[in-house]
Amino acid sequence: MKPPEVDRIAGSKAAVAARRARAEVKRQVSSGERTASDVLDKATPENPAEASLRVSELIGSIPWLGPTRTARIMTELGISPSKRVGGLGIHQKKRLREFLVERQKRRIETGALVVLAGPTAVGKGTVSAFIRDHHPEVLLSVSATTRPPRPGEVDGVHYYFVDDAEFDRLIEGGEFLEWATVHNAYRYGTPRAPITQALAGGKSVLLEIDLQGARQVRETFPEARLVFLLPPTWEELVRRLTGRGTEDADEQDRRLVTAKRELEAQDEFQYKVVNADVETAAREVVSLMPTPSGV
Ligand code: 5GP
Repeated sequence: MKPPEVDRIAGSKAAVAARRARAEVKRQVSSGERTASDVLDKATPENPAEASLRVSELIGSIPWLGPTRTARIMTELGISPSKRVGGLGIHQKKRLREFLVERQKRRIETGALVVLAGPTAVGKGTVSAFIRDHHPEVLLSVSATTRPPRPGEVDGVHYYFVDDAEFDRLIEGGEFLEWATVHNAYRYGTPRAPITQALAGGKSVLLEIDLQGARQVRETFPEARLVFLLPPTWEELVRRLTGRGTEDADEQDRRLVTAKRELEAQDEFQYKVVNADVETAAREVVSLMPTPSGV
């Protein structure tokens, strides 16, 4: 028997509202506003949004966990893919809570590796310099490069300026987390040791590297958070690129071509931040790192 029209409309409105409420819970977890264990604790009949959320959706909303790892975790916890948070058995709930609390602790103890990439001249350097100057709790990785220093650049602060032979030695010694030839010109590489040390000590690390480097980090360090910095508009990017005045016309053309290609890669990135204002962009990048102090 078909339900009366008014009931049907009311029912579908309620379903839409319920879906919206669940989407909001997922958003809170994925943005870090709320922990997944808090959602688990609130999943009672009085809180239908939390209770009717699927466990897989809850786990999948936790930053850094993609569908493959979510599926593996669900299997390990012995929870079926269709299970809703409110429908968990006592033992399943206990296992899930232990897993979530353990994970949260580990995240806070180990610090995050955040990679800031983006097209040439988008302002990666300015945003990371702002973070270096205002967030001493974050380690800004210093790369090695074969490029000669620009006026004002200090060895060991902006880069380690090395020659080709030294760069080769660093590659052979396995000293780099990643390295690449950038703009078909000079080589740049991220020293591995300071990063692993900082992460183990609970400090978050920021890498400001090119796209090829970001892709390598994604492969070798899947937990890294990849951020793509975007210009407010293409015109603004061109203005920033030509206005910098540190490169000759040929070099500017080369960089413009690279920038266009690089912009096309934005969808490979988990996070996108628009650099309209340096301070706001820096704050958004830092918000992806766990705070050292709190659980
Ligand atoms: P610049 O020569 O203007 O300082 O940097 C040129 C490009 O090299 C920038 O896009 C910068 O992000 C990138 N870069 C700097 N350090 C590294 C690094 O260690 N690895 C990689 N792959 N790229 C880097």
